Amino acid sequence: MRVEGVVQGVGLRPFVYGLATSLGLAGLVGNDADGVFAEVEGSAGAVARFLARLEREAPPLARIDRVSTVSMGITGAAGFVIAASQTGGQRRTLVSPDSATCADCLRELADPADRRHRYPFINCTNCGPRFTIVRDVPYDRPFTTMATFPMCALCAAEYHDPADRRFHAQPVCCPACGPRARLVDATGAELPGADPIEAAGGVLRFGGVLAVKGLGGYHLLVDAGNAAAAAELRARKYREDKPFAVMVPDLAAARTLCVVDAAAERLLLGARRPIVLLPRLPEADRFIAPAVAPGNRQLGLMLPYTPLHHLLATAAAGPVVATSGNISDEPIAFRDADALQRLAGIADAFLVHDRAIHIRTDDSVVRVSQGRESVIRRSRGYAPEPIRLARPLPRPVLGCGAELKNTFCLAKDRHAFVSHHIGDLENAETLRSFTEGIAHFRRLFDVEPQVVAHDLHPDYLSSKYAADLAGVDLVGVQHHHAHVASCLADNGWNGPVIGVAFDGTGYGTDGTIWGGEFLIADAADFQRAGLLAPVPMPGGAAAIRQPWRMTAAHLTASVADLPGGLAVRDRNAAQWDAVVTMAVRGVNAPLTSSAGRLFDAVAALLGVRDLINYEGQAAIELEQLADVGEQGSYRAAITERPAAAVAGGFAAATELPRAKAQLIVGGSDLVHAAADDLAAGVEPSVIAARFHNGLAAATVAVCARLRDQTGLGVAALSGGVFQNLLLTDRVVTRLQQDGFRVLRHSQVPCNDGGISLGQVAVAGARDRVSQS
Ligand SMILES: [Zn+2]
Ligand SMILES: [Zn+2]
Repeated sequence: MRVEGVVQGVGLRPFVYGLATSLGLAGLVGNDADGVFAEVEGSAGAVARFLARLEREAPPLARIDRVSTVSMGITGAAGFVIAASQTGGQRRTLVSPDSATCADCLRELADPADRRHRYPFINCTNCGPRFTIVRDVPYDRPFTTMATFPMCALCAAEYHDPADRRFHAQPVCCPACGPRARLVDATGAELPGADPIEAAGGVLRFGGVLAVKGLGGYHLLVDAGNAAAAAELRARKYREDKPFAVMVPDLAAARTLCVVDAAAERLLLGARRPIVLLPRLPEADRFIAPAVAPGNRQLGLMLPYTPLHHLLATAAAGPVVATSGNISDEPIAFRDADALQRLAGIADAFLVHDRAIHIRTDDSVVRVSQGRESVIRRSRGYAPEPIRLARPLPRPVLGCGAELKNTFCLAKDRHAFVSHHIGDLENAETLRSFTEGIAHFRRLFDVEPQVVAHDLHPDYLSSKYAADLAGVDLVGVQHHHAHVASCLADNGWNGPVIGVAFDGTGYGTDGTIWGGEFLIADAADFQRAGLLAPVPMPGGAAAIRQPWRMTAAHLTASVADLPGGLAVRDRNAAQWDAVVTMAVRGVNAPLTSSAGRLFDAVAALLGVRDLINYEGQAAIELEQLADVGEQGSYRAAITERPAAAVAGGFAAATELPRAKAQLIVGGSDLVHAAADDLAAGVEPSVIAARFHNGLAAATVAVCARLRDQTGLGVAALSGGVFQNLLLTDRVVTRLQQDGFRVLRHSQVPCNDGGISLGQVAVAGARDRVSQS
């Protein structure tokens, strides 16, 4: 028997051992580079029961993709044994993601009689660090960062006892033989206190900033109820407004802050332990300082995911901010010396330990959307579990991802290994994470890419990385096609579909900036069948940082008859006319069809903000402003022009249906309607809602007209703008009422974190066509 999937380091061998023994079967079980293998010998009935129960009762962290069996000769063996691990051969086994502390370990952690009482590194076959400590495969202790901790006699006995729940748990350890926690200052000198975790709790209770070494990197913690501490953390981190996540000790504490429904409860308590974005209760204001998540209807909550965090959350005696250990947009610190140095000016104390983190992995972020998990940042607890592809790839593929929120994806056969969150590829440190991450995944999963897919933007560092590779076939994939293909792969759907890709920025095949796209698409190719009417971005990138420039660009056409006293113009009077001129003349004003920029224009118009300090901020705040009860709507004109040929740049013929007319949505109509309402004294919250409703109505109208042209009844929604719950809810509801089947993201983000999977899907589909 051979078992493939996430089968190593998850307690499968002891489970097989126990099952076979209980059924009176003889034989063996072992790990090799392909996964788990076993030979069982006994009565036909017992063997059948064994196979049935294997899949049904497998341990919680195991993910069995395939069980295959062959018949062998009878050996007459007596008894069942666990065979030694074998190395070599092609590697097909999967490394498990890191997993939150299990209930059995938590019981021992709290038990004064247990030898691991309050030991911050307790773990077992069902829980503990995995991906972040793995240096190489097979998953065995010598190939992890636990290799430097020789087991004591008691731990070794548990490790070797097939009846023990720590049998072959690679990170097994105890206070006598395992890692130790210490509380130190920025020079590495130990701070006083008998118990470092109690002392760290004291730092938080007294308003200090605490750096904590977690599973995948360092966090910065402060008491979430302490306004001065939260403000101080913002100032020291140079993070002005972006919301902080909050760690609470347990579910009961989560319920005092947020609405937690059954789906959210499963995510909060599950083994992956992400940050879960939840609707905030008014009472949360009593426990959470305003600076934690300013002006946000949601709060990101996380329950402790390691024994260290469990102990610390109790010692802190209240909700704590838990944010990445970095300054501004740098990657999260994960190496000890580097962390002390980089965080020296931020943290008052450091809770550290001596188990190395091999791979930097941020917290994952998810939310529940219409009863379903929707991943916004896919990292710790999820990576490196593969996304299963609907069809096998002809050749191994690397998708290099986008520039912002980068992930890469290495794929072969039906497994797409989407990396942990790498970050914004804008500095050397992040680029190093990217290149080292690819090298690590290649070794770990034995994928030697022959096809490399990249964004069309020539200046993206990920595109340049691809261009520098030798001996591979390069495939350029348009950004929004990658979004739609990612959504198809996420849903195991082959297409064709009407793809709606709304985001901030993506390089178009015509050299302009796209971002409000309706694509008739399958994985191999696409036709740009609709778009938001292109408008100039006065000042280029400056228009991204200063949303009011987009307001000016949209209102230029009628600059003479602008409603008097328009506040956005008054606030930016010094530059307004120059920016309008730029837009009208098209000087330093590249054209964009971006949906994100349309949100920016309305946000600045309504006084939400004229300047942003993190990506998407104005649009996010516009959504928060909107009155969700408002049903009024603005109308955007939809015009037609003859459609261009299939524009995906893929020469081979595909069966993609053709739209004969290209539909252009007049986004400016929405901005003008909003300006008129504003001049008439309508509340900004109502205007914000009418804008959302108007864009949703136009989106559904375009989809319906494209269905008329092509006969396609499936719509796929992708792009970062669909993180907007209000817009998504309106679009999905109306599409479904109109008879559409709607595909949305769940396993990978709709934002650029999902691009690498889409690139792999496109490159794989083209490879399949070329080879057939
Ligand atoms: Zn456990
Ligand atoms: Zn020990």
